[in-house]
Amino acid sequence: MAGVEDIRGKTIAVIGGGPGGSATAIRLMRLSRDRDLGVRVVLFEGKNFDRHHNQCVGVLSPPSEEILRNGLGVELPYEIIKRQIYGYRLHAGGKEILLVGPHNSNATYTVRRAMFDGHLLSCSEREGVEVYRSRVTGIDFPKGERKQVFLYTEGGMLKADAVVGAFGLDDGMVDIFETATGGRYSRPSKFVQTYIVKIHAEPSFIEKKLGSIIYAYLFPPGIPNLEFGAITPKGDHIIVNVAGADAAVEDIYAFLSLDIVREHLPEVSIDAQEVYRGKFPGAPAEGVVGDHYLTVGDATGWLRPFKGKGINMAIETGILAAETMMEHGISVASFRRYEEAARPLRDDYAYGTWMRHLCKLGEVAGTLGTVLSMAKVDQRIHDALFNAVSGHDSFKSIFKEYAKPSVLVDVVRNYLMERRRRK
Ligand SMILES: Cc1cc2nc3c(=O)[nH]c(=O)nc-3n(C[C@H](O)[C@H](O)[C@H](O)COP(=O)(O)OP(=O)(O)OC[C@H]3O[C@@H](n4cnc5c(N)ncnc54)[C@H](O)[C@@H]3O)c2cc1C
Repeated sequence: MAGVEDIRGKTIAVIGGGPGGSATAIRLMRLSRDRDLGVRVVLFEGKNFDRHHNQCVGVLSPPSEEILRNGLGVELPYEIIKRQIYGYRLHAGGKEILLVGPHNSNATYTVRRAMFDGHLLSCSEREGVEVYRSRVTGIDFPKGERKQVFLYTEGGMLKADAVVGAFGLDDGMVDIFETATGGRYSRPSKFVQTYIVKIHAEPSFIEKKLGSIIYAYLFPPGIPNLEFGAITPKGDHIIVNVAGADAAVEDIYAFLSLDIVREHLPEVSIDAQEVYRGKFPGAPAEGVVGDHYLTVGDATGWLRPFKGKGINMAIETGILAAETMMEHGISVASFRRYEEAARPLRDDYAYGTWMRHLCKLGEVAGTLGTVLSMAKVDQRIHDALFNAVSGHDSFKSIFKEYAKPSVLVDVVRNYLMERRRRK
């Protein structure tokens, strides 16, 4: 009971109304109401999602529908969904393969991200969260006799008992948070740079050239900075995105110029396209929880390298954070329990990093193409690739199930045979 009493009647401030912030706020309000705890939840969001957006391709991977429904009581409105995705055409090492999940696997959707964020935020308001459309501009954590956190915003100030940092990778807010925590919170030490182009296309063109398939390219040829590129069909436009630790804006133009990419796009002037720049975390942040604060979503840096699913991770960490606060209160010991409970996410992080390095190695050694050839005739390898690319399974369980010495020996044997045949 001590934990529950610790949060009764308290004020929790949430900085950021992306999926992480909204999920935390909704779950907090629902649990507070169920248990009659009278918790006040105040959320600050600087963007107006009718005009602004958070950087994203808009792929909602499974089990997002279940997490939203079971964790938050939120249903996805029909108009948000632009397309259901049925498979991935993976290109690597000069080979390609179509990866399709089993019929009974959960759905992957492409959505309009700004509408998705706007929907979650209005669900928060309906649950009783106080939502303010203004940016947090400064924080003073408790000191001496002052027991509350002071949050300064463009619209006034708030005195709160604890703060949830759900501000993603917003550089301005990260600066403020690092300073306010005296450096206890420290941003991810590495990032993966991303660039996006949105190309309008007739729905009939999209049906003919892409269908409901995402085209994914590992280490696109001739562009050393890129680790990944993708073409994603939506309703009446196509999203092209690239990523790499050292990716620069020129790399997306180079990617758009590749023949294997151009053949899926309408006739457009590449130079005339507007480019959107963003980043993924490339390493966990430090001091993810501390006295009077915890962080969720991208601010933790726990996003799996290589294949995002960042929306799911943000929502899952938000729900976990809210449940931990309701069970164990808002002490730093409780926040550490949240960090501990999120360990499986971090474990998968390590496996994701391995996967990224293995793929880099495989590309250099030329074995990645061999793996794709093998996947055409070996259902187990096909399924492993599908699960990795679609995010249907964790990297950890994929590794445990498939990265067996016998499989690796087969890859090397096939690679050597292919090389001999080419000579
Ligand atoms: C190019 C790109 C493509 C991606 N594609 C996908 C994809 O297809 N599928 C997927 O699952 N993930 C994708 N991701 C990852 C995904 O977008 C993130 O992981 C996810 O948005 C993290 O959610 P969040 O709530 O932690 O942070 P965010 O979504 O970044 O939300 C943070 C919010 O905080 C607000 N904020 C920041 N500072 C302040 C402040 N001072 N005051 C008030 N508000 C503030 C911001 O305005 C923002 O709305 C992509 C990322 C990138 C960069």
